[in-house]
Amino acid sequence: MNDDFRLIDGPLARRLAQETQGEALFDAASRGRYATDASIYQIMPLGVFVPKTERDVATAIDIARDLRVPLLPRGGGSSQCGQTTGAALVIDTSKHLRKVLGFDQDAMTVEVEPGIVLDALNAWLKPHGLWFPVDVSTSAQATLGGMVGNNSCGSRSIAYGNMVHNVAGIDAWLADGRLLSFGPVAGLGAAERGIADFVRGLAEQQRAEIEARWPKVMRRVGGYNLDIFAPQSERPYTADGSVNLAHLLVGAEGTLAFTRSLKLQLGRLPRAKVLGVVNFPAFHAAMDAAQHIVKLGPSAVELVDRTMIELSRANPAFRPTIDAALIAVDGKAPDAILLVEFSGDDKAALLRQLRALVELMGDRLALPGSVVEMSDEAPQKALWEVRKAGLNIMMSLKGDGKPVSFIEDCAVPLEHLAEYTDALTEVFSKHGTRGTWYAHASVGTLHVRPILDMRQSGPNGGAAKMRAIADEASALVRKYKGAYSGEHGDGLCRGEWIAWQFGPHIDQAFRAIKQHLDPAQLMNPGKIIDPPKMDDAALFRYAPGYKTIALTPAFDWSPWNVQNDPVTEATSESGSGGDSTGGLAKAVEMCNNNGHCRKFDAGTMCPSYRVTRDEQHATRGRANTLRLALSGQLGHDALTGDAVHEALALCVGCKGCKRDCPTGVDMARMKLEVQAQRRLRHGLSVKDRLIAHLPAYAALASRLPWLFNLRNQVPLLRRLGERWLGLAAERALPCFRRDTFWRAAATMKLATRAELLAAAKPVVLFIDTFNGHLESENAIAAVRVLQAAGYTVHAAQGERGQALCCGRTYLAAGMADEAKARARQLLAALLPLARRGIAIVGLEPSCLLTLRDEMLAMGLGNDAHTVAGQALLFEEFLAREAKAGRFQPALKAAGQKMLVHGHCHQKAFAAVQPVLEVLRLIPGAEPTLIESSCCGMAGSFGYEARHHAVSMQMAELSLLPAVRAAPDAMIVADGTSCRQQIADGAGRPALHVARVLADHLAEPI
Ligand SMILES: Cc1cc2nc3c(=O)[nH]c(=O)nc-3n(C[C@H](O)[C@H](O)[C@H](O)COP(=O)(O)OP(=O)(O)OC[C@H]3O[C@@H](n4cnc5c(N)ncnc54)[C@H](O)[C@@H]3O)c2cc1C
Ligand code: SF4
Ligand code: SF4
Repeated sequence: MNDDFRLIDGPLARRLAQETQGEALFDAASRGRYATDASIYQIMPLGVFVPKTERDVATAIDIARDLRVPLLPRGGGSSQCGQTTGAALVIDTSKHLRKVLGFDQDAMTVEVEPGIVLDALNAWLKPHGLWFPVDVSTSAQATLGGMVGNNSCGSRSIAYGNMVHNVAGIDAWLADGRLLSFGPVAGLGAAERGIADFVRGLAEQQRAEIEARWPKVMRRVGGYNLDIFAPQSERPYTADGSVNLAHLLVGAEGTLAFTRSLKLQLGRLPRAKVLGVVNFPAFHAAMDAAQHIVKLGPSAVELVDRTMIELSRANPAFRPTIDAALIAVDGKAPDAILLVEFSGDDKAALLRQLRALVELMGDRLALPGSVVEMSDEAPQKALWEVRKAGLNIMMSLKGDGKPVSFIEDCAVPLEHLAEYTDALTEVFSKHGTRGTWYAHASVGTLHVRPILDMRQSGPNGGAAKMRAIADEASALVRKYKGAYSGEHGDGLCRGEWIAWQFGPHIDQAFRAIKQHLDPAQLMNPGKIIDPPKMDDAALFRYAPGYKTIALTPAFDWSPWNVQNDPVTEATSESGSGGDSTGGLAKAVEMCNNNGHCRKFDAGTMCPSYRVTRDEQHATRGRANTLRLALSGQLGHDALTGDAVHEALALCVGCKGCKRDCPTGVDMARMKLEVQAQRRLRHGLSVKDRLIAHLPAYAALASRLPWLFNLRNQVPLLRRLGERWLGLAAERALPCFRRDTFWRAAATMKLATRAELLAAAKPVVLFIDTFNGHLESENAIAAVRVLQAAGYTVHAAQGERGQALCCGRTYLAAGMADEAKARARQLLAALLPLARRGIAIVGLEPSCLLTLRDEMLAMGLGNDAHTVAGQALLFEEFLAREAKAGRFQPALKAAGQKMLVHGHCHQKAFAAVQPVLEVLRLIPGAEPTLIESSCCGMAGSFGYEARHHAVSMQMAELSLLPAVRAAPDAMIVADGTSCRQQIADGAGRPALHVARVLADHLAEPI
C-alpha cells in the first residue's frame, strides 16, 4: 500500500484538502469504489474528489492543471463502456451539485447543476406539467451531467430524440480553467465563437468524408458531434435548424470540458398514454414488423424477447404483469412481444391509433388477435417497469459467465433490423454463446449481450470471443449502414472503433477538436482519443488469473458457488463453482455496478445512502469494497479490517437490497458474514455481548426490572452507558417488566402440545424475546384474536420450558455458532409441529423471518426448510385464513384513521400487504401505507451513540414527517424497533397489528 500512502500524503490530496470545502478521498478502498462503473473494466483512480460547491470544482481543476493530473468528471457512474474509469482524479458531482438553478415555464427550459438525477428533476417538474423526456432506464440514478456526457437516449427517443436533441446550453470549464458558455452560435462570446469557427472549419474540410461515412441514423453517439455544422442525424439537432455549440460537448464523455450547468429543453407531460402489446409467434416477424409499426406515430416501440419473457415470468414480482401482456399463439407462448405506446393529450385520438395498430397487425401483417390493448395507466406502468428491469433481470445469472456489454447498442436502419438480428444470432451461436434481445425496436437499437467469461483466457476465453464477435458484428453494422455505438457511448470498449466507423480523416478531425479544447490532454484521457484496445485484459475487473482469498464462511453461500452454460444458461450444482470463499465472493460479484441502489424512490434500498449520499454507503459501494477485500486488492486480512468495517458500519441490515437490487445482492446477510469473520479475529465488545445475550438474560431481568431499568432513570448512568458502552444517552432502552407474556400464559388457556395436535384449528405461536418479555401485550393480544376466531393456540417452548429464540441478536454481533445453537433448539421444538403441517406464527418480523432466511443458510439441512415452509407472520397467517374463510372474527367498527409503517423485513418478504388486508377486516378501516424506507432504528443500530444522528436522519426521510402529518391517526407498526423509533422521534405510540385487532374484537375475551 505504499502507493496509497504516497497519494494520501501527496500534494494533490493536500491541496484539495487545504483549498476546497470538498472531500478528498485517497485511501485504497475509496479509490477502489470509483475504479469501476457498469462496464467490465476497472482502473484505479489517482484520487477521488467530492466537491461541495462549484467553486470547489474550479479550484480542483486549477490544482490538477498545476500538478498535471488528469481529471475524470463523474455522475452516477452507471456507464456501461468504462467511460468513468481512469487513472485520474475522479470528481463526483452527484453528492452536492444537484440544484435546479433556473426555470422558465413559458420557454419550457430549466437550468440545472450536473449532479442532479433525472428522476429527481422530473419529480421537480411534474407539478408544472413538464418533464425532461430523455427517459433512460437508469433514470433513478443517472445524472444529467452523465447523460450529457454519454449523449444518452431513452425508450421514447423516436418521439423526443437523444440528449443532443434536448440540450439548449452548457456552461463548462475547460482544463485551462476558463468557464465558457456553449449555446446557439448566433449568441456566442468571443472565446466560444473561436471554438465554433474552429469546429466549423474542420466540418467544412471534412464535408465529403462526413457525407460518405457518417451513419445516417438518429442513434449514433460515437465520436464527437462534428456534424452539428453538417447535420447527418435523421432528426435535426435543433427545431429551427440553427447550430448550437453546446451539442459539441454532448457525448464528449468528459474529454473536452467539465460541465458546470446545463440548460435543458423540456416537454409537456402527455396527459394520456395507451399501450398495445403485439405478440409474435416468431422473433423475425417482430423485427420485420417494427418498420411498419413506426409509421403509426408511436412514442415508443420496445422489444422483449422470449428469454426475457421467461426470465420475467420466473420472477414472482413480475409474473402477473407479464402474463397479462401475453397471448398464446397455437397454444405456445409468443417468441417476442413489442410494446407499442401512443401518447398525447387526446385519449380518443390515441385509442384510434391503437385501433390502427390492431388493424395493421390483422390486415397487413397477417397476425389477427395478436394485440393486448392496455388503455389504463396502472397495467402500462407495471409493464414498463418489467421492460426497464430487462437488463438487470438478465444480469441475475449466477456463475462467472455474464452477459457482456460491447455490441449491445449497435443501431441499424429499421428495414434491415430483422436480417441484422438473425445474422448476429448466428454469430453468437458460432462462438458458443447466445444473446437475449430487448429494447428500442423503434430506432433500430436492440440491446443484446452474449454471455462470456472474462476470467477465461486463450482462444475460448471471454476476451478472444469478445474480439471475434465484435469484428463480425461490426461487419454487419457496416453492411447495413448502421452506427456501431448507438446509445451507451464509446468509453474503453468502443473507443478503438471510432476510427473504424468514421475513417482516418474524421478521426484526425476529432483529435484536432480535443487538441483545441484540451491541449494538455487532461480531460478523461484514453476516451474517444487514443483509446486502449477493448480487450486489454489489464483493464478488466475480472481478468484471467483473477483470484479470491481462501475463506471458510460462517454461513452457507453455496447457491452462488456455481457456473453456468452460456447457451442454455443452466447453472451447475450448488457448491460446484470453484469459489475459494465457498460462494461468498460470487454472491458479492453479483453486483454489476448499475447503481440502482442510489435511487431515492419509495422502495427501501438503501437507507444509509439516502442519508449520507456517499458511494461508500450505497449497496454498490459496499459490494465493491467486499469484492476488493475478497480478491486481496485491499491488502492482507482486509475482510476483517477497517475499510470493510467502515463501509458496512451504516448498513442497517434492512434487506432493502435483497428485495430492490435487480440482481438480489443481499448485503444484510453479507454483513452478518463479515461480523462473524471479524468477531473471530477481533473478539467482542462489552456492548456487543450485552445486546447479543439479551435473550439469555431477559427472563432474569424480568424478575428484577427495577435493577435492569435503572440506567433509563438515572441520567448519570445514561451518560456512563454512553461513555463505556457506546449506547446513546438520548435513547431510553426497552423496559423490562414483571408482567411478561410467559407469566400471563397460565391464565390464557393455551393448549398443550397434545391438545394442539388433536385440534381442528391448531396454531403455534413462536413468542420471540421482545414480545415475550418486553412488549407482552402484543403476544397476549395475538392469543386473544386467535382464540376469538376459534383457533387452538400453543406457545412453543424449549425442552426445559424455556422461551425460544431465533438467534438474531447473536447473528448481528457475529456470534454465528451461538446463533446456530439457538436455531437448533428452535428447530427441535418446531420441527414435529411443522411436519404435521401446523402453521408457526410469529409477531416480530425480524425474528420470524429469520426462520425463512438466515436459518436456511446455517447448514441445518432440510429440517430448516420444513420449518421455514410453515413459518408465517401473524398477519400473513390471518390474511391466508381470512381468504380461506377460516378467520371471521366479530370486529367493531374502526374509530380512527390508520397509518401503517412496514418493517423492512416485511417489505423484503412482501409481507406488508397482508397487514393492510387484515386491517381492512375491521369494518370502516381504510389503512394507508406510509411510503417509507427503514425507520432507522434497525435492532440495536439506533441505540448506538455513534449511529444516533444517522438513525434519526433515516427516520426523518419520510416516516416521522408522515406520522406528524397525521396527528389523529392510529399508527400501526409491527417491528419493535420501529415502534420505539416512532415514539422517540414523533412522541407517538405505535401498535402491533395484533393489538389493533384485539382492541376491535366485538366480544373481548
Ligand atoms: C442497467 C442499465 C441501463 C441503462 N439504460 C440506458 C438507457 O436506457 N439509455 C441510455 O442512454 N443509457 C443507458 N445506460 C447507460 C447509463 O446509465 C447512461 O449513459 C447514463 O446517462 C449515465 O449517467 P451517469 O450519471 O451514471 O453518468 P456517468 O457514468 O457518471 O458519466 C457518464 C459520462 O459523462 C461524463 N460526465 C459526467 N459528469 C460530467 C460533467 N459534470 N462534465 C463533463 N462530463 C461529465 C463522464 O466523464 C462520463 O464520460 C444504462 C446503464 C445501465 C447499467
Ligand atoms: S448492489 Fe444491486 S442495485 Fe446496487 S449497483 Fe450492485 S447490482 Fe446494482
Ligand atoms: S441491507 Fe439495507 S442498509 Fe444495508 S446495504 Fe442493503 S439496503 Fe442498504
